[in-house]
Formats: sequence, structure tokens, C-alpha cells
Amino acid sequence: MALHHRDMTTSHTPVDDHLDALVIGGGAAGLAGAVTLARSRRSVTVIDGGAPRNAPAEGVHALLGMDGIAPAELLARGRAEVARYGGDVIAAEVRTAEIDGDGFVVTLEDGRRLRSRRLLVATGAVDALPEIPGLAEQWGHGVVHCPYCHGWEVRDRSIGVIASHPMFTHQALLFRQLTDDVVVFTHGVDPTPEQRAQLLARGIGLVEDGVAAVVTADGSITGVELTDGRVVPREILTVQSLLTPRVQMLAGLGLRVVDHPMGQHVPTVDIGGRSEVPGVWLAGNVTEPSAQVGASAAAGTMAGAQINADLVMAETAAAVAAM
Ligand SMILES: Cc1cc2nc3c(=O)[nH]c(=O)nc-3n(C[C@H](O)[C@H](O)[C@H](O)COP(=O)(O)OP(=O)(O)OC[C@H]3O[C@@H](n4cnc5c(N)ncnc54)[C@H](O)[C@@H]3O)c2cc1C
Repeated sequence: MALHHRDMTTSHTPVDDHLDALVIGGGAAGLAGAVTLARSRRSVTVIDGGAPRNAPAEGVHALLGMDGIAPAELLARGRAEVARYGGDVIAAEVRTAEIDGDGFVVTLEDGRRLRSRRLLVATGAVDALPEIPGLAEQWGHGVVHCPYCHGWEVRDRSIGVIASHPMFTHQALLFRQLTDDVVVFTHGVDPTPEQRAQLLARGIGLVEDGVAAVVTADGSITGVELTDGRVVPREILTVQSLLTPRVQMLAGLGLRVVDHPMGQHVPTVDIGGRSEVPGVWLAGNVTEPSAQVGASAAAGTMAGAQINADLVMAETAAAVAAM
């Protein structure tokens, strides 16, 4: 795991301080939330394990004004913005987060403990890929999942859709918008008559023999090997990954989770990111598997604003009671 930003951060917050807010996860969602909190003059610390979901990708696309920026560069800028307004970023992994009186205590893997009045969870999610030899090695390069993130970059190429998920026609049809050479490999999924009609109508090929492996040469995909040994030439593959939110460290909080068409055990929140556990907000892929970088950052900003407003109202109520 790359903790590349440790040297770039200042960690002047005492470890056992009682912060206004702790942010777990320093991707687009967590950093955007922290900037909003820091700009609201809230003491905020981000704890980040340094493993954003899009790390394998060369550039971030579909992000207005910053198209193509390297994922690491975008986050480095975000950390600098947090620091500019007085927030901290600590490169560390959170082991547990628990309710502690009217706030929270977060324990890091190295045993350090931090306390806060509010918690913003922005830990993202992990992509589960079909177990096909050679597939994982190409993830983010030759194997892509999102037509909006990488579709333009693979336009006019020969694309193979590995149908490991019921949403495979959605993906096949969206990539068909970008190239006229799309083949679906059913890989255990049995297309419905409606799906077959859609693929046929759009000129998308269908291969129903088993997939054995991804074939590469000089680091690039050249085809898909079937279980009978034949190889179907392809340059790019797409898969719909299944997302599992990174919430193991939150077991002590009792968050309610549901399943989502793109993910499993996704914590539920309201439109502003507030969970059913008082004082806990979530933002980004941890609660919305379909959110791209822009939507994740927007959710973080919204959650940061709501946390600040919640603290303002609590402080105002306390001041009124003290009159
Ligand atoms: C290959 C690929 C390419 C993509 N390309 C694009 C693109 O071009 N454009 C686009 O808009 N979107 C793209 N996406 C989607 C993008 O990755 C997500 O939208 C975005 O990363 C979500 O941001 P996030 O802050 O919710 O989570 P993440 O970016 O995943 O950040 C979560 C952070 O939390 C940290 N964390 C997790 N658990 C802990 C813990 N216990 N303690 C401390 N820290 C923790 C992680 O280390 C990580 O740094 C791509 C996704 C993939 C998989």
C-alpha cells in the first residue's frame, strides 16, 4: 500500500485531541469534506490509507476542468487544500471506529487513538473482478469498467465485454456507442431473449463458450482464450466489477447496510450523507458505488457542510440552554 503522502502532511494535531471532525479516507470524497470543514474553521483530521480505487488508472476523466489529471496528482492537490485551511492529513490505516460518549474514538493500526465530535466516513470500495487468469493484471489499463471514465480512450478499438454481472447489456450497449466492434462473452450468464435481441439489433457479437484466460503480448491484450483453446482477438476488455464498501472498521457503529445493483452491503444515508447513526456521515463510493470522482467529491462537500451545520446547531442549543 502506497503511503506516498506521509512526507507532504503536517501532523500538528495531538493524537488524543478532541477534534470537531475526523474523516476516515482521503480520496476525493474525504478530502472534499475536510476542505469544507476546515474552511468552516472546524478542527479536522483526515486519516488515509493511501489506496484510492482508481490508483491503477493513468488519468481521471469526466472531471470538469481537470480532465486527464493523474489520480495521485489530484489527491496531492486536495491534501494541500486541506492543509491550506488548517486541516491535517495523517497517512495511516484506521482499525476501529466506535461511539465514545457523545462523540467517537478512532483507533489506528499502530494503536494511536483520536477522538472527535463527528465522523465522516469516506473509505471508498473494493472492486471484485471475475476470476479469469490475466484479467486482474490488466485492471485500469486493458480491462476497464466505465464508459465515461475510459470510453473515449478505447473508442474504435475491438472490445470484449465479460458478462459476469446481470448489468452486462448496459455495459455492452454503452461501449457500442464508442466502437462498432463489440463482442460479449457470456461467462456463465444466460442472456434473456430481450438481451439477445438488443445485442443482435446493435450488431454486438455473442460468444457463449467458456472463457479460460486473457491473452496478452508485450503487456497489451490481444485476445480472449476460450475453454476449447480458441482465441477471439480483442484489444480491450470490459467487466462490471462488484463493489464492496470498505466498512469493516465500522462494525462497532451499527450502520444499516443494503445491497445495491453495483455493490453489496452498502451503508444507507440520506441525500446529504447522514447515516442513521447520530453523528456519522458517509460520502463517495463507500455509500454510492456508481459515484465517479466528481460525484464523490460533491458528496464529500455536502457531508462536510452538513456536519458543520449540525455542530453549529448543537453549539447554539448549548448556548441557549446556558443563558
Ligand atoms: C480503474 C478505475 C478507473 C477510474 N477512472 C475514473 C475516471 O477516469 N473518472 C472518474 O470520475 N472516476 C473514475 N473511477 C472511479 C473513482 O475511482 C471513484 O469515483 C473514486 O475513487 C471514489 O472516491 P472515494 O473518495 O469515495 O474513494 P477512494 O478514492 O477509493 O478513496 C478512499 C480512500 O480511503 C482510504 N481508506 C479506506 N479504508 C481506510 C481505513 N480503514 N483507514 C484509513 N483510510 C482508509 C483508502 O486508502 C483511499 O485512499 C475509476 C475507478 C476505477 C476502479
